[in-house]
Amino acid sequence: MIRLEQHLGLGTTCLGVPSPAVFLDKDGTLVEDVPYNVDPACLTLTVGAAAGLRLLHAAGYQLIVISNQSGVARGLFLEPALLAVEAALRRLLLEHGVPLHGFYYCPHYPNGVVAEYAVACSCRKPAPGLLLRAARERGTDLGRSWFVGDILDDVEAGHRAGCRAILLDVGNETEWRPGPLRQPDCMASDLLDAARVIVGAGAGALLPA
Ligand SMILES: [Zn+2]
Repeated sequence: MIRLEQHLGLGTTCLGVPSPAVFLDKDGTLVEDVPYNVDPACLTLTVGAAAGLRLLHAAGYQLIVISNQSGVARGLFLEPALLAVEAALRRLLLEHGVPLHGFYYCPHYPNGVVAEYAVACSCRKPAPGLLLRAARERGTDLGRSWFVGDILDDVEAGHRAGCRAILLDVGNETEWRPGPLRQPDCMASDLLDAARVIVGAGAGALLPA
């Protein structure tokens, strides 16, 4: 079976030039937050998501989900359930004319109950491991990339990977734990607002050839 990504010819441009990405938190940013949900039927795009992602795609940004999924380590669902979530999300976005270029998740949680996953890792946000892996696998130019998320751990992960970061001011951050890498470059009201900021900043995103 031809992978969807191959079919769409995505990744680096045809010339092999690293392209920028917009990394997206999933729950509360891209889709409405339903805690520990892995039921594809419960995936609903947030307000402004479809229009915002269309704008970013047209501007030449790869769109890559970066998600903490500690429900695996907590024993709430099995890791393969996330494959169904990814497939459903790709279908949902394609219905809106938007391809998803990558879907990366961290299944770990140090205090989890499933021994295999109850570990300190380098991929659970605010660590930047998933972004670094995505960039390595997809030839992403991190210096021209952005992270959009709804909590400061997303902001920190983006900054630790060398990206700029936008916080969606939608009420999901409740702790506001400060830190030198946790100051958003910008706040936005939803993904469309964030997309306008990113495109307006003009990072020199290369349109795919
Ligand atoms: Zn992890």
